[in-house]
Amino acid sequence: MHKIICFALSILLLTTLAACQFENNEDMSLTIYTERHYDTDQLLYDEFTETTGIKINLVRDEADKLMTRLQNEGEDTEADLLIIADAGRLGRAKDLDLLKPITSEALETQVPENYRDPEAYWYGLTMRARVIVYHPNRVNPSELSTYEALTDEKWQGRIVSRSSTNIYNQSLMASFIELWGEDEALSWAIGLANNFARDPEGNDRDQAKAVVQGVADLAIMNTYYIGRMLYSSDPAEVEVAETIGIYFPNQETTGTHINVSGIGLIKHSKNADHALKLIEFLTSETAQSSYANANFEYPVNPNVEPHELLKSWGSFIKQDIPLSVLSEHSTKATMLMNQAGWK
Ligand code: FE
Repeated sequence: MHKIICFALSILLLTTLAACQFENNEDMSLTIYTERHYDTDQLLYDEFTETTGIKINLVRDEADKLMTRLQNEGEDTEADLLIIADAGRLGRAKDLDLLKPITSEALETQVPENYRDPEAYWYGLTMRARVIVYHPNRVNPSELSTYEALTDEKWQGRIVSRSSTNIYNQSLMASFIELWGEDEALSWAIGLANNFARDPEGNDRDQAKAVVQGVADLAIMNTYYIGRMLYSSDPAEVEVAETIGIYFPNQETTGTHINVSGIGLIKHSKNADHALKLIEFLTSETAQSSYANANFEYPVNPNVEPHELLKSWGSFIKQDIPLSVLSEHSTKATMLMNQAGWK
């Protein structure tokens, strides 16, 4: 009888050990669904793997596709972390129940409160500003002041913008709903759309190109595209970026609109401890400058200096709102922009 019990116990012990072994192997890797695709990111992941032994598998795709994939995969997903741009989109991932909260003292120090979800569902990794760019031959920067002033009739037929279906514009509009209320935000969108030189088309870079080609005199775009164009392998892009002037609006009032790219822990991840280590690493002083510089973005960690190019544009006053409100107003923002005739 004893022998049988002993034998049964040994089998049990062996299976448990085998299971542990298997789990440990599983645990030594992290799968990230990401829309980022920079060589310098890979160097950071390699450094992380070297110090922790945790391997990184990357699945790269567009943000919306990654989110749909996570919805379809449900609890069978291999993904541990999601990295996407725009707080509006990060909020959408939270609302779609794709993420779960994760927190630590390090994260709270490394990522300022405004740049993370108040319930710890996501953390900003890099920051960007949505600025005004202008043609210096046709616009004197002294004529510029605020986003609101772009509705002035002097800019009639002189502004280009990308579509209202774009998340960056939806988040910009959402920030105005937060700051001014719906009625004023709607009036602004109507005034801006009235001043468009053409129906919205193309991406952020295309707006800068249109300004240089003479289609318009002003455009609104994200700062990192200017950096990416300046260092582009395409000489035409370099020329565009070298020609345009950059203006940070609302410096004496509500500040320039900013946004982040960020990271969240996948709801069905089985590797939360390792995932936390990686988020802590990516927001640490060591990693932040290379991580942000890869895309000419600003670090979120307040102790880290931005790239020389960004420093050359000077420091600026930022909108002082928690970025988590951008997704709260996102649906309303889209509705109002449509109502305003901003296609
Ligand atoms: Fe972008």
